[in-house]
Parts: sequence; C-alpha cells; structure tokens
Amino acid sequence: MKEKVYVLDASGIIGGFISSKHKNITINGVLSEIKDLKSQISLQSALDEGKIMVKEPDNDSVNQVKSAIHNSGDILRLSEVDISLVALAVTLLKNYHPTVVTDDYSIQNILKILKIPYQGVMTEGITGIYGWIKICRGCRHQYPSGYQEEDCEICGSPVYRKRIKK
Ligand SMILES: [Zn+2]
Repeated sequence: MKEKVYVLDASGIIGGFISSKHKNITINGVLSEIKDLKSQISLQSALDEGKIMVKEPDNDSVNQVKSAIHNSGDILRLSEVDISLVALAVTLLKNYHPTVVTDDYSIQNILKILKIPYQGVMTEGITGIYGWIKICRGCRHQYPSGYQEEDCEICGSPVYRKRIKK
C-alpha cells in the first residue's frame, strides 16, 4: 500500500495542521504566503525538524490541472500558487496517497474534479445552531465531525466527539 501524505496549503499551515504520523508536504509558493509571525515560527521549526518537506510539481501535472480548470469553464479562481499546490498532489499520486489540507473552496472544487482526497483544516461541515466537532485529548486540535480516524493526526492521542453551540 502507498504511504499516506498530507499536502498543506497556507490555510493548513496557519491552522496548525502538521501531522506527526504522516509526512507533510508543501511547495515554496505556499511558504512565501505565510506572513504572520506565529505561523512563521512554527513553520520554521517544522522545516528544521523535517516535519514539513518542500517539493515542486512536475510540468505534466501542472498542465493536467490547468486543462481541468479550463474544462470546468474557468469558473474556479485559482492563483498560480494554488495551481502548483494542486499539481503537486497530482505528482504525488504516482508514489503516495496524498490528502490535501485546505479551507479554500476553489482548491477543494478542483480537487473534487481531479478525484484527489482533501479535508478542511478545522470546522468544515458544521451547520445549524448545534454541531459536532472532534477534539484531541492531547493537543486539543479540532477536527470536523466527519474525521474518520480514532486518534489525532498531529500527536496520536485519542479524539472525542463534542457537541458545540455555534
Ligand atoms: Zn493531538
């Protein structure tokens, strides 16, 4: 079975999603989008510790993503960085099981078209007055109610379901 990896966009990094169970991969373009100091510091230490790796997509993957956007009628508003990040996930498909971590709806939509798994960073899928989230007993990271694993992707502690008021 192919190894699972996470592909992080800026919202994934700023949201504090860095898995210690699986590899985290991003592109240089995303790193330059991280402007706030707190995120820059945690990003730098994750890079130093090798928790996040930086890779770039191959040209075939970039072209594949661009033609998928074109075929969708160019309705998706994606920056060059967004396109490169999605293309990186396409490149990684050859050797890994990538899941893209992003809260950006345009990125999620193109991933849907390309049939690449993705997940939101924190509170995706919470609707109505009450909702459910899952919280890690260890690091308190919040996951959407649809989070499938029984333990935390970041620190490995068990997660529990909690009802929240919006
Ligand atoms: Zn945790």
